[in-house]
Amino acid sequence: MARYIGPVCKLCRREGEKLFLKGERCYTAKCAFDRRAYAPGEHGPTSQMRRRGRQSDYSRQLRAKQKARRIYGVLERQFRRYFALAQKRRGLTGLTLLQTLEQRLDNVVYRMGYAASRSEARQMVSHGHFMVNGRRTDVPSMLVKPGDEVEVRARSRKAPYFVALRDLAEKRSCIAWLERDLNNLSGRMHRLPERGEIDGNLDEQLIVEYYSR
Ligand code: SF4
Repeated sequence: MARYIGPVCKLCRREGEKLFLKGERCYTAKCAFDRRAYAPGEHGPTSQMRRRGRQSDYSRQLRAKQKARRIYGVLERQFRRYFALAQKRRGLTGLTLLQTLEQRLDNVVYRMGYAASRSEARQMVSHGHFMVNGRRTDVPSMLVKPGDEVEVRARSRKAPYFVALRDLAEKRSCIAWLERDLNNLSGRMHRLPERGEIDGNLDEQLIVEYYSR
């Protein structure tokens, strides 16, 4: 599946807030947003300040949608598919959309603390280091369901990254709707997340409005 391969920190600067797309680096002084907290562009912050006026409804809806897409690392076409899926499912479309995004395998690996960022998790999954319900998979967009078990493949556990992973993962918290077993480098989704458990300061109502225009 295609993915964004451009400069990542520009996305945070475009959205005007830290999206934490680069793992540990986001918490250091190297964070580009901390150094240049204005939108990217040739003419720098001065011209942007001159242009700044009242945001239109469309602009707020677009920014809400773009932010969610960027946080989860999903391109437009696939994001639209998730929205269509959320509309078909029972419940509030906005919440269902966020729950669907949270169900992505790369997000689950990240939420379990087995990767420092979703992009790192995506790479680990693409390289075939993870199994779901005992079967190897290399599809980061696979949707994990409640009851599914995710684990690091036995062969991969000898790789240097995974040897150090237990200590690293211990420092990272695992979210309440997931369980993890650090000794076996595995985990299970026991339910879908509730709205309060999905962070990222997302406004799903604006996203619904964007696609309902
Ligand atoms: Fe965003 Fe992280 Fe880059 Fe900072 S370091 S701008 S939080 S991706």
